[in-house]
Formats: sequence, C-alpha cells, structure tokens
Amino acid sequence: MAMAGNLGFPRFGAKREWKRAVERYWKGKLSRGELLATADELTARHWTMQREAGIGIIPVNDFSFYDHVLDMTALLGAIPPRYHAENEDDIDIDTYFAMARGVQDETRDVRAMEMTKWFDTNYHYIVPEFDANTQYRLASGHPFTAVEKARAAGVEHPRPVLVGPATYLLLGKCLDGVSRLDLLDRLIPVYEQILRRFDEQGVRWVQVDEPWLVLDLDDEARELFARAYSRLNAIAHRPNMLVATYFGGVDHNAGIATALGDGLHLDLVRAPNQLEAIAKKLPEDHLLSLGVINGRNVWRTNLEDKLALLQRAADLRSGTANLLVAPSCSLLHCPIDLELETALDDELKSWLAFAKQKLGELHALTVAINGDRSSVEHAFAASAAAHRSREQSARVRNKTVRARQAEIDESMTRRSSPYERRVRAQREKLNLPRFPTTTIGSFPQTREVRRLRARLRKGEITRAQYEKAIEQEILSTLRFQEEAGVDVFVHGEFERNDMVEFFGEQFDGFAFTKHGWVQSYGSRGVKPPIIYGDVQRTHPVTVRWSKFAKDHTDRPVKGMLTGPVTIQQWSFVRDDQPRSETAEQIALAIRDEVLDLEAAGIDVIQIDEPAFREGLPLRKKDWPHYLDWAVRCFRIASSGVRDDTQIHSHMCYSEFNEIFDSIAALDADVISLEASRSRMELLDAFEHFHYPNDIGPGVWDIHSPRVPSRDEIADLLRRALKHIRPERLWVNPDCGLKTRGWEEVRESVRNLVDAAKMVRESES
Ligand code: GLN
Ligand code: ZN
Repeated sequence: MAMAGNLGFPRFGAKREWKRAVERYWKGKLSRGELLATADELTARHWTMQREAGIGIIPVNDFSFYDHVLDMTALLGAIPPRYHAENEDDIDIDTYFAMARGVQDETRDVRAMEMTKWFDTNYHYIVPEFDANTQYRLASGHPFTAVEKARAAGVEHPRPVLVGPATYLLLGKCLDGVSRLDLLDRLIPVYEQILRRFDEQGVRWVQVDEPWLVLDLDDEARELFARAYSRLNAIAHRPNMLVATYFGGVDHNAGIATALGDGLHLDLVRAPNQLEAIAKKLPEDHLLSLGVINGRNVWRTNLEDKLALLQRAADLRSGTANLLVAPSCSLLHCPIDLELETALDDELKSWLAFAKQKLGELHALTVAINGDRSSVEHAFAASAAAHRSREQSARVRNKTVRARQAEIDESMTRRSSPYERRVRAQREKLNLPRFPTTTIGSFPQTREVRRLRARLRKGEITRAQYEKAIEQEILSTLRFQEEAGVDVFVHGEFERNDMVEFFGEQFDGFAFTKHGWVQSYGSRGVKPPIIYGDVQRTHPVTVRWSKFAKDHTDRPVKGMLTGPVTIQQWSFVRDDQPRSETAEQIALAIRDEVLDLEAAGIDVIQIDEPAFREGLPLRKKDWPHYLDWAVRCFRIASSGVRDDTQIHSHMCYSEFNEIFDSIAALDADVISLEASRSRMELLDAFEHFHYPNDIGPGVWDIHSPRVPSRDEIADLLRRALKHIRPERLWVNPDCGLKTRGWEEVRESVRNLVDAAKMVRESES
C-alpha cells in the first residue's frame, strides 16, 4: 500500500503567530519560555492538521525558529568563532538569533551570517561559513526532542528532516580555501551520531534533503555525494534514509541519485519526465516518493492527471508497496489555508489549494492509488469540476489579449533607431550635463504615507483627500530635488504600496489574498499576487502621478514602471500556460502605459527589472530560453517610443556578470545596477564587458542608513570612469529609497549631486 508522505509544512501559523512571537521576543516583550511555548503550540497544531488530513508520514524538525539551514549549522555545531559558542553544549537560542541577525548593543557588535536565496525560491537561507578551523560536533538536541513531542501529539510515523551532508557543504561558503572534501571527513561522524540517536528513538525513516542534486554537478560535488553516502549507507544501526530532491529533475544525475540511501523523492511537478528513467534504475526494494502536488504554487491539483502519473509509477515499480504520494517539495513555499480568504469569490477559490488543501489532495490520491477510489470520488469530482470551470471561464481567456499577442511582430521588439541615433536626439531634448544625477524612483515611504493608505482603506478619508495628500508628498519631493540640484527627477512613488501589487491591482487577471503569506526570510513574509487570467491594462495606471509631477517642475521627470519579468516573477503565476506567455501579456500592458506616459509628455521612462536575474533557471542548459523570452518581453514593453524618449531600466541583487550580454540586449538607453554589495566586482566586470549604452553603477549603498560622503562617491565615480566612457556614466544610488529616512536621504542626495559636480570639474 502506498502512503501519503509530506515533506514540510509552513511555519508561520495561519495568523502569522510565529512572526509576531519571534519579533516580540527580539524586542524583549516575550520571554524565552513564552517563545518556546508558541513554537510547541504551532508544531503540535500543524502535526494534528496533517494527521487529521490522513497523512501517514509526517515531517518533524521542519519547523524552524529562523531558517532550516541555520538549524543544521546549530545542530552540527559549526558556529563561527565570532559568536563565542565554544562553551555552549546546546547552542543557546540567543546565539542562534545572533548568527541570523547580528547583535549590536553596548558590549557587542557582531555581524550576522550572510543570507541568500534558497535555489530559485524567494526563501532565503543563512549561508554556512567554513574555514580550515571549522570543527563539527552534535550541538543541539532539538530534532530528538521534536520526535518525542510529535509522538506525544499522536504522530505514529514522525520523519525527521535534515539537510543532507553534500547539499549542506555545497550551500556553504568556504573561506581561506578550505576544501569541502576535507570538511566532509570532519562532518560525517556527526551525521552518524545523529542517525544513531534517531535509531535509538525507534525512528524508521529520516528525510535527508539533497536538492543540490537537481543542479549541474561538478567533480567536487559528485565526489561529495559518493563519499558521504558510502559512509552513511554503511552505518550498522540507523533509520532508513529517504533522499529528497526537488525544484527539478535528477535524471541527469541518475547514477548518483539512485545509489543514495534507501529511497528517493522526486519532484514530478517540475520534472515529470524523469519518472521513467529513475523508476527503472532505483533498486527494487527502495522507496520511491512521488512529488505530484505542486508545493511551489497555489493551483488546485488535477487529481485525475496525477492519479494517472501515480499509476504509471506503480506499473514501473510493480505495485504500490514501496511508493509514497507527496508534494513536489516542502509546503513551506505556499500559503497555509485557503479557507481564511473570505474575500475571494467562490469561483476563483474553487481553482486554488493552499497547504492545508494540498494535504487533502495528497490523501485523496493515496486512497485512490490504493484501489479505493470510490470513497474519495467527491474529491475527484470537485477537482474535475474546478478544472473544467477554470478552462472555460471567461475570466481566464481574453480574446482581445490573445489577438494582440498573435499580432506581435519583430518590429514591436526593437526601437526604430539604434542607440547612437537615439542618444543624440535625447541629449538635444533633455540637455543634461555630463554625469547626470538621478534616483531609482521611490523616496521614503514614511509612516505617515503608509497611514494614509490604511485610512483610505478603512474609509476614514476619501479618495480625493488621499490623492491630495499624495500630491503634497510629490510636491515637496520635487522641491527637494530642485534644491539639491538633481538632473532627472522622480515623483517618489508615494502612491505605491508595493511595486508589483500596485500594477496588479489595476490590471485584469490578478487576484490578491488577505492571508496568503509565504516566508521570505526569518520572520519576514511576502504575499504574492495570484495571476489567474489573461493580463490586460484597461486604463492608465501611473500617468496621473507622473503628469502631476511633470506639471510642477521645469526639470525632466522620469516615469516609473515595473517590468514584465519582475511582475510575473514576484507573483503566483498561472500553471496553464508557460511563464513566457504571461510575461508577454504583461509586457503588452506595460507597453501601453509607456506610450501613454510618452503622450503625456514624459521624456524619460524607467522600467524596473530587479527580478530579472532571479528568474534564471537552475540549470545552465535552460538559461538561453529564459533569457531569450525575458529580453524579448522587456523589449516589447519598451520599444514603442520615439527616438527622443529615453528608456531606463534598473536591476538589483548583484551577480550580473554571467548575464551581461542579455542586459545589453535589453537595449535600454540607460541602466542602473546595484553595486553596493560587490562594488569592486561589478566595476571589474566592465573591464571585460563594455555595456554599449549609458550606465549608472550604484554609488550609494541604500541598504544601510550610513550617509556616503562626497569624496567617497566621487572616488567611486572616478574608478567607474576607468571602465566607462565619460559620456556614458550616470550617477545614482543602488536602489529605491523607500526604506530609508528623509534625513539621511537628504544628506546623501546632496552629497551625490556634489560628487557629480566635483567629478565634472576635475574630469573636464
Ligand atoms: N523603482 C523602485 C524603487 O525605487 C525600484 C525598486 C527595486 O529595484 N526593488 O523603489
Ligand atoms: Zn533595486
């Protein structure tokens, strides 16, 4: 008989109880005991929820106080020396939070460990740090206690989750050239100890996450997997190991993947075609966990299709005996409970499934594959009805949009003249000095500005009052830019709650949840919009604000838009068509907005693509296709304008070096790039790559409240001039200023303008 086996559950709680508890603990408003009690309460609640949904195999140790990779670092005692944890037998919770967030008080100023994205998700993990002195030891009892607590909560088969040794080492940062293979020799004994402890507790299966296996492996990685598992496999007394892979297929690494542990989990949502190859290669007595329910998106599963897939697996594996029915990956990446969304209409709601609903789907599929379909027929009927309704709904398909897409031709993807001709027309019109200064768009979103929106929502002020107040903000921001002497102005983006939500709310095809939070890092969550239908712009979205600004100053005002790639990347995207199609529809909507801005007399228009880099697929072989459509969509959005309208773009989150060709292919007249966290590296890259158009490498790190001095900015500009021709260089911060305070912003913008003046004088 197949069993339903989950891989992980969202941590925050339906009402974001965890977020609130942990933030209060950090502020000293909640005791340690109260915090631990909240964690126990939530994990017990989630176990019960899974048990009651009929899930046979329930994950434990998937809950985390901050992040599961950091948990692994604590469990393995790999605490960097700056946290002084040598004498902690069990890593103290405050040491743990210090690693995540740093500490700054009267006695200590210790920086946090680095944080970066977990594969291609928007979840961020804390990057382990290793050096030649790193030693490992069992430094936490947490996973073992969790097993006991799960049993006490009635979980019959608790399956502890660990990050596997190879992935753990590969995710980490090796300082001073220490080799991962050397580290592995020190690390494996601690994994052995952990497995033995689980065995003593009577744990039958452990879930060992090795998502690194979906990537392109180099020789070092291959060797790590081989060595790690030949040692772990050989342990005499240990639970069985289910090696979990997700976010892609492992058929390109089939030889390695099928030789690890005693079972393998496959992501059959991202990579359904790997089933054949893996199922044939996996030893007959190994467990095969079939990830058929999408853990990364919010759509209701087509149970009929997935049952067929399960049936195919059962045929390949001669029966259901060693099969598990599972989500594609941990449910961490989807919101918790659809039932809380009382404001969504019933039709749309019937198309969706959040974590709790996905458990129900797992159960139904498991019962059906075990031959008792009739007892879950209602679930199959509801799933089929929902899919029919989604396929046929007039809200999903929009003929006008489809017709426009069919008519996109090559001429819509390029400007009518090459950059050299455009730049002359733009210079003549804008009459800017050398090294023009500008900002990235937003000015501080103060508490007052956010309160205005809250009051509008609650009906405490009228829309007219709200708009008046926003206009006041714009006016004072214009006056400030005049005083400071900025060259290209922005209006400040005060009317925007969020750079994606603001557009989604006004386009057709988007829906918004009230509680659809997904953990982004630590206690932070994001609430991505849901794109359910063809996207269309029915009315101008930003023109009113840009026009208002333009009418109140003599300086050029830059219109501000979010790009098509970023809008789809930061949403729950449709699964009934390729991402590229959705992005293309958004591109047409943005194109219309661009043309309306131009018609309203806006001469400079910026289309932000901060998520352009983030959308890159996990495997290099898939890069060209992505970059191709992503560039094309940007060009559809931006190419409709006249020669003398200047198109800017902006990107952040570093590591552009590998995709510079595609950035150039956007053919934006001006691009600003975040450079703060790797300023040197970005400038170094220009040595080999000459961005053909104008460029503004960020010269003020807006992620910190620090005010950069004039000299410091001027120095960076002079360094940039070593690689960038003077007529091509722009002067701007790294990113938008919305998270900063006015005081630092005023001073920094003045310094930025002064630095540009200094360099103009010295370089002429
Ligand atoms: N225009 C946006 C802003 O200034 C850009 C934000 C971003 O790059 N993430 O806030
Ligand atoms: Zn940015």
